[in-house]
Amino acid sequence: MIVMKFGGTSVGGAAAIRQVVEVVRGQLPLRPVVVVSAHAGVTDALQAVARTAAAEEAAIDAIIERHQQILVGLQLDERLLDAELADLRDLARGVRLLGEASAKITDAVLSFGERLSARVVAAALTAKGIEATAVDAFAAGMVTDSSFGRARPVPDDGRMLRYLDEVTGVPVVTGFLGADQDGNITTLGRNGSDYSAALIGVAIAATEIQIWKDVDGVHTADPRLVPDARPIPTMGFEDIANLASFGSKVLHPAAMVPAMQHGIRIRVRNTLSPEAPGTTIEATVDDALPAVRAIAHRTSVALVSVRSHRLLPQHAFLARIFAELHEMECDVGPVAVGEAAVTIAIDDANVGRIAASLASLGDVQIASERAVVGVIGDAAVLENGGIADVLKEMVGADISVRCAGLGALGSTVSVAVAAERLTETVRLLHSRFFPG
Ligand code: ASP
Ligand code: MG
Repeated sequence: MIVMKFGGTSVGGAAAIRQVVEVVRGQLPLRPVVVVSAHAGVTDALQAVARTAAAEEAAIDAIIERHQQILVGLQLDERLLDAELADLRDLARGVRLLGEASAKITDAVLSFGERLSARVVAAALTAKGIEATAVDAFAAGMVTDSSFGRARPVPDDGRMLRYLDEVTGVPVVTGFLGADQDGNITTLGRNGSDYSAALIGVAIAATEIQIWKDVDGVHTADPRLVPDARPIPTMGFEDIANLASFGSKVLHPAAMVPAMQHGIRIRVRNTLSPEAPGTTIEATVDDALPAVRAIAHRTSVALVSVRSHRLLPQHAFLARIFAELHEMECDVGPVAVGEAAVTIAIDDANVGRIAASLASLGDVQIASERAVVGVIGDAAVLENGGIADVLKEMVGADISVRCAGLGALGSTVSVAVAAERLTETVRLLHSRFFPG
């Protein structure tokens, strides 16, 4: 068996869903379990309904309208979603009357995105001759704790497989959703359906988890910056984690951990060109892979430097800095540590409040409009000359760098550059490591 997960854009409208039907058809011999996200944008719209307790009737109308248009576009029964949509309308009315939505109610509201899209996709498959059944993960044994909004799964004991075995045709399971031990609906956190796909893959002992998106897999660099960037055929799980640390959204590594622990291969594929092989992600990589895997980058970065007043010993100074960052829930990287100073790269959006919170620990200096570029590959190569190659390119092009160096495990080299030199930097490094 395999898992095929389709994200919000892949099920974003009637045309996209028709494409999904054909992609599923192509994999029927592998006995797929399909996992779907809400139609693109629907979770945001539902979140707005839950957040503004005074949510206008109109906001719900718009969501309902969107789904009805998709039904019409697919020539499906226009009443298909009536029961679900009526429940959503009732729930929204409740939120309006109460004037607020708790985290628990918010998850119930959000759940409708996936519940609706699973029904649409199952009906679209059936209409094209592929028998399929919509499955609500919360009814199918996806049990979680009760941390609404970011629920964590309770280990599966075979219940999910037993449930899915009884389903007629292809199960089309809601991503993102679960239920706590009391049966309350929970969500796994935004973009959680990759996580659902990994958990379901483990539960059914899948041979492969396919993540269908709208790009030809993971690229050697962002194709918007580097026109000759190309899809990477194979990479390791660590490479994906490294990419994510540079802001890549391609796959959330934490969401993939269950699959990797069970040695299940993950493939990122493109709904728009299903014949393309996409990118295969293996738990461990063999030596045949190119030493440098990808050039990653993150924009909207600010470098915040704190120079200690020297009232604290270094270890206490560092402890205080990182305690502040923890307090502010601020993720950082890269970091440069000196004897009495620290420079951290953070998201530009956080710079005001972070600088203010660090000011009690030392003199703060901010360099805004930076970008971080990372070369991702084998530590053995990057540690032995790879880093010099990176820096030589920077010197040759007269690009000044800060926070330059090997990452903690040696498998990345990063440089912070001025935002206006970003494209040039990425292109230079790409042509250096991926010539012709
Ligand atoms: N629909 C949810 C979201 O937009 C989950 C997902 O798409 O993965 O966050
Ligand atoms: Mg999404």
